[in-house]
Amino acid sequence: MLEETDRLFACEFCRVRSYLLPQLFFRYMLPHGAPPGKDLFYYPYWRFKGMTFACGEGGITHRFVDASLQGIDSPHFPLSLGLRSQAMRLSFVPPETPGRFLKPTVTFKAIGEIFDERFQAEGKGHVFHRAQIGETISLIYAPFYTNAGRIFDAVLNRPLAETGDNPSPTMLPGGKPAWRTRFVPNLCPGCGWDLQGQSDSLILTCGNCDSVWKPTAEKLVRLHFGHLPKDGHDICFLPFWRIRADVQGYPLATYTDMVRLANLPKVPQPSWNEIPFRFWAPAFKLRPQTLIHLSRSLTLTQPQDEPTPSLPSGRLFPVTLPVKEAVESLMLCLASFVKPPKNMLPRLSDAKLTPKRFLLVYVPFVEGHHEYIQPEMKISINKNQLALSGNL
Ligand SMILES: [Zn+2]
Repeated sequence: MLEETDRLFACEFCRVRSYLLPQLFFRYMLPHGAPPGKDLFYYPYWRFKGMTFACGEGGITHRFVDASLQGIDSPHFPLSLGLRSQAMRLSFVPPETPGRFLKPTVTFKAIGEIFDERFQAEGKGHVFHRAQIGETISLIYAPFYTNAGRIFDAVLNRPLAETGDNPSPTMLPGGKPAWRTRFVPNLCPGCGWDLQGQSDSLILTCGNCDSVWKPTAEKLVRLHFGHLPKDGHDICFLPFWRIRADVQGYPLATYTDMVRLANLPKVPQPSWNEIPFRFWAPAFKLRPQTLIHLSRSLTLTQPQDEPTPSLPSGRLFPVTLPVKEAVESLMLCLASFVKPPKNMLPRLSDAKLTPKRFLLVYVPFVEGHHEYIQPEMKISINKNQLALSGNL
């Protein structure tokens, strides 16, 4: 399902923290190199970024997708941005930007359906389950101008190929960039102190009254959270979603069920029947393979210590993957550990997963030279993977 989530960002100009409402999207523009005095107009492209997964007989395949499509159906303009959306520096559109911004006629909803349809074709052979995770849709404006009746690409200053009668951009609906963003009060609703959070973080924290907040369209909403304590130097706390879910199609209510489904070399103890099974999924973006691998590792560990309901004193890694997206990854996590896959994977077609409760848990990792290591769980994450996650 495609839907833009609330997204925080710090305004490039005033560093005021702002956010976009749900169902809205970021608007960016490409830089232009037009000669002075040209009347620019900006043609819109929808851009989709995200990971797509398909689970079939051979296991899980994945792809990172970064694609763009025309926001106005037109034979006169390039069909997509090609590599420009990835290769060029994008900036937000300041309201005073000169030029005419054409209004997209392909709606946000329609573009979501088009991309969905495209990705339904992914995966070879019979596919039991598909998922799209960490997806974002944004609008990118590309600059153009007209000269002697021809349309010029204002990035390269080259005329577009002639396609018969060129439309006059003044005939198309558009205008000044008059859209709104809202500002998040930077004060904690609980105690009035300044909230903290990196510009790419989806949540804000208050170190004064130990609280975590998620901006929504109306207000800041308090989130339940906790951390697994650990003392020492060089500790970085990585955020995870601990999710309790009903799974239909597989027996997966307790720890014993999981040990059996994953065929772990452990002898189930009677007490394990009392331990509810929970999924663990990263609350930050990662490359597709690493995301599933990490989710699988932590889920199979099933940490039993009840998280301490306070913020840890240590470095916090920002939350960049909302719980709604993390839920999309749970079936893949399940698919990654059920044994034997030959018999178990086809059951995915009829399986159903209903999330019930979630908790944001900060898990301590020791920072090494090249990786973050969770010694108790024997889990490590390559630092490059985390550094790259900002681009996903
Ligand atoms: Zn507070």
